[in-house]
Amino acid sequence: MDIKELVKKERERIVQIRRDLHRIPEPGFKEKKTSKYIVDYINRLGFSAKSEIAGTGVMALLETSRPGKTLMFRADMDALPIEERTGLPFSSVHPGFMHACGHDGHSAMVLGAFTILSQMSDRLKGSVKFVFQPAEEDPGGAKPMIEAGVMENPGVDYVAGCHLWPFIPEGKVGVRAGAVMAAMDRFDLEIRGKGGHGAMPHLCVDALEVGTQVVSALQRLVSRKNNPLKPVVLTVGSFHSGEAFNVISDKAVMSGTTRAFDYDVWHNWHKNMETVIKGICEASGAQYLFDYKRGHPPVVNHPEMAELVRECAVEVVGSDNVIEADPTMGGEDMAYFLERAKGCYFFLGTGFEGCSLLHSSGFNFNEEVLLSGVEIYLRLALKLLS
Ligand SMILES: [Zn+2]
Ligand SMILES: [Zn+2]
Repeated sequence: MDIKELVKKERERIVQIRRDLHRIPEPGFKEKKTSKYIVDYINRLGFSAKSEIAGTGVMALLETSRPGKTLMFRADMDALPIEERTGLPFSSVHPGFMHACGHDGHSAMVLGAFTILSQMSDRLKGSVKFVFQPAEEDPGGAKPMIEAGVMENPGVDYVAGCHLWPFIPEGKVGVRAGAVMAAMDRFDLEIRGKGGHGAMPHLCVDALEVGTQVVSALQRLVSRKNNPLKPVVLTVGSFHSGEAFNVISDKAVMSGTTRAFDYDVWHNWHKNMETVIKGICEASGAQYLFDYKRGHPPVVNHPEMAELVRECAVEVVGSDNVIEADPTMGGEDMAYFLERAKGCYFFLGTGFEGCSLLHSSGFNFNEEVLLSGVEIYLRLALKLLS
């Protein structure tokens, strides 16, 4: 049977999985019902699954009897602390939580691919790994899953995954070689000055004023120090200082995030920041505490894998509907898997005029898109493992 026909035959099942998971959204590392649902489903297919990996993660293996490479499909399972307002008949039954980032669809696609590949494993060699990770949104479940060994036994040669993407039109597929999502870090800075009377600045060290100098100097670091062809975003997201109109503040506290695509820029950025912070504080007579926490690496697609995914996508939706994806400064812990195996993370367009975007209480998508995702996964498996 033709691959498109095989996917069509499983349409109801794939949509049902998505809706079942949509009803039971759970936050990161608490995906107990979700992982049980996935394990039960895999058992019903006649396979066993390894569960409770890094807490709530699930992994299953489809082995053929023929030696070959290993391809891994990755889905994320977690939901967001958002009250759903879609009005869908299969809306969340967990008050205050919602699948507003499409991870229900991601898991449904990987289970759909498993269902169909298990029926056609005689056409494959090597093995296919299906990985369902917790806590993509926060604090990240990919790294602990890798530390727990999901990319070993057998070692993963190729990895693929995708995100439902309302930022491109429904039915289109976005693929890009190289960096497609940014590294994402967090920083916290406390500036300590010397408080005093608002009328006597010469006897004080005004932490608020030093803090504002730091905020604007950090932005000049982006525009003047950084190579504009290697983009960086630096956002100071919170700034607190001062208690009263006539009192010079002795403390300013701020926190923010930085984003970058380039590994060198990413690795050195905190040093640039500290140079600026140190210089301004020293010149002003203030002290500082700077805490920089490195987050996920950039999501970097291997050029050969991106090309293969593009070919598969063209077979599924036609060349007019496959576009070069714009990179985004958003981050994703898929990055850790891509650091360890040749891989590609692509975007499945779900956008239409007036649609709700990711992380909003009205987010929804046309489930037909899931069929395209499953078909791309199947074609990729056939290309890599035939
Ligand atoms: Zn998200
Ligand atoms: Zn997401």
